[in-house]
Amino acid sequence: MESQKQFKRRFSFEFFPPKTDQGKEKLQGVRNRLAEVDPDFFSVTFGAGGSTRDRTIETVLNLHNQGISTAPHLSCVGGTRDTIAELLDIYKESGVNRIVALRGDMPSGMGAAGELRYANELVEFIREHSGDTFNLEVAAYPEFHPQARNAEEDLRNFERKVKAGANSAITQYFFNADSYFYFIDRLEKMGITIPVVPGIMPIVNFSSLVRFSDMCGAEIPRWIRKQLESYGDDSDSIKKFGEEVVTRMCERLLAAGAPGLHFYTLNQADASLKIWNNLGLANRDKISF
Ligand code: FAD
Repeated sequence: MESQKQFKRRFSFEFFPPKTDQGKEKLQGVRNRLAEVDPDFFSVTFGAGGSTRDRTIETVLNLHNQGISTAPHLSCVGGTRDTIAELLDIYKESGVNRIVALRGDMPSGMGAAGELRYANELVEFIREHSGDTFNLEVAAYPEFHPQARNAEEDLRNFERKVKAGANSAITQYFFNADSYFYFIDRLEKMGITIPVVPGIMPIVNFSSLVRFSDMCGAEIPRWIRKQLESYGDDSDSIKKFGEEVVTRMCERLLAAGAPGLHFYTLNQADASLKIWNNLGLANRDKISF
């Protein structure tokens, strides 16, 4: 973990772009509550194949213009160099300075893969088109990407993104801190020393967590799954247990030198803020973790 300790810690919250007026209003309330803790940035997801393009732009610019730096996610699957360049120009003109660059996943039955096949090609294209305008974040997978042929290749593919010009990475969520520590060790042995910020998924709903984790290849350890299962419909107990488990994991990550945390908020403030407060992050400049 030595490589990670040199970086200034940064804390961020991720949103998805709301579809309805009601969703927009709700996000505004969530944004206001999270803005109070002064995060380093917000980020906004981008639907596969460009399905949320306009909503992502609108949400990013709205949040960015309210004073907290906001990073759009941008996935290349289903896009062309021209459509991606257009997006980059819009963001550049609006003063956006950070992008989360991804391949994305094509929804089944939806058109061709696009001109850029993998995230390393997207990073390369963004650098070609926009130079150093953007700080580029890429995705990292401590438990490995579900489509990776094997662990070694996945690491090599991560290295390609770094060589193409990524500045830092945010991980897929995990509930096993050792997978992150081991991932960082492997990167260090390969000479890769960019900040790799753990992505944190607060636990609020068991069935959606299971569905989502199965899809993205994040493992819910058996002891957590069994405990959550035993609570049935008792959502207060699920949230309380989830809060404890995730807080403890974050404590371990930060104590070991993780360069910050990125919260997958799912457009809800409570769960992330509880973990935030448990960790004492209000005084993050003063405490040593
Ligand atoms: P890549 O880095 O391209 O990797 C994809 C797979 O291809 C891996 O198995 C890798 O090993 C392999 N691979 C990579 N390069 C090569 C190569 N050159 N040759 C052969 N194989 C290769 N999805 C969305 O749709 N919208 C979002 O907003 C979004 N935000 C995300 C944010 C974070 C922090 C994370 C971790 C994930 C996010 N995702 C999002 C999910 C992501 O799009 C999927 O996990 C997707 O399947 C892979 O994207 P990637 O950028 O990691 O792809």
